[in-house]
Amino acid sequence: MANDKPTREQAEAAVRTLLSWAGDDPRREGLLDTPKRVVDAYSDWFSGYGDDPRAYLERTFEEVAGYDELIVLRDIEFESHCEHHMAPIIGKAHVGYLPDGKVIGISKIARVVEAYARRFQVQEKLTAQISDTINEVLQPRGVGVVIEGAHECMTTRGVHKRGVSMITSKMLGTFREDARTRAEFLRFIDVGLGR
Ligand SMILES: [Zn+2]
Repeated sequence: MANDKPTREQAEAAVRTLLSWAGDDPRREGLLDTPKRVVDAYSDWFSGYGDDPRAYLERTFEEVAGYDELIVLRDIEFESHCEHHMAPIIGKAHVGYLPDGKVIGISKIARVVEAYARRFQVQEKLTAQISDTINEVLQPRGVGVVIEGAHECMTTRGVHKRGVSMITSKMLGTFREDARTRAEFLRFIDVGLGR
């Protein structure tokens, strides 16, 4: 996190500036509490900066003798914000890994997704951060991450294309090297087949 973090009062003043710039009067009654609410919302939307995704994985190793098949968590819903427009990205992440003796509680994977999603992001970076963190901390035989995201900077402005989602993926280890593992993962998550 940046050392020169502005004060809450400065953040609220910045919101008033944007309200004025948009053409409204931040002193009118309906907008008086808006800067406070926006700053509160930012604390929630960007709580990922205060979160350590690696810690979720480090704490929760379990030895499961013998289980060496694919583990997949699909449809992990997330909300993020694009770093280019500060506009929402609403999507789902699908994460799979092939354990090498160690597994983690499934909720921990969702925590990792959330910790990175709750920051300013580009979808490609989000995808890579999730896969790299799982790969480095858990050291599975392979990991695959697929993310589907709808970018509101695209659906509500600019080209105004609704219903478009962007799909990104990152495959490491056996997911990258072995076409059968990759195919099994993609079949499990069923991306783009009318869900
Ligand atoms: Zn954007």
